[in-house]
Amino acid sequence: MPTRLEQVCLEKGLRMTEQRRVIARVLSESQDHPDVELVYKRASELDDTISISTVYRTVRMFEENGILERHDFGDGRARYEEVSEDHHDHLINVQTGQVIEFTSEQIEELQKKIAKELGFELIDHRLELYGKPLLKSKMTKVSPEESVVNIKQTIHSKKFN
Ligand SMILES: [Zn+2]
Repeated sequence: MPTRLEQVCLEKGLRMTEQRRVIARVLSESQDHPDVELVYKRASELDDTISISTVYRTVRMFEENGILERHDFGDGRARYEEVSEDHHDHLINVQTGQVIEFTSEQIEELQKKIAKELGFELIDHRLELYGKPLLKSKMTKVSPEESVVNIKQTIHSKKFN
């Protein structure tokens, strides 16, 4: 069974070599936001003939074709995530590097409103919030691998009132 990402590649007419297929599978199965090194690590566990430059090239090709979204979460490394229909924003814990995904109806509406007031129809946006925890609990830095998303939440507008 091809993964969703592989399917999208095929639909876009990209030539899928075995190595590209492995890289696509790794990205499809990643629940976090891996950087190229992490993708390489995961891919080479499945196929040790894959080089890091192949991963770089493939990831770039996927990005150029709108299959992958590149993020910069302020640590200077490009992180990747499969483009999906479910939009979400990110909050980055600056003390640990953990990335939390969330959606807020209120933010979505506000952005549309602002764009409209400026004479535009909003077609896309990205939002990254950077924060430090209110409670001083875990201060240890996590690796990108450990920064697996463990909280996916929808923030409803009433919580702000
Ligand atoms: Zn995300």
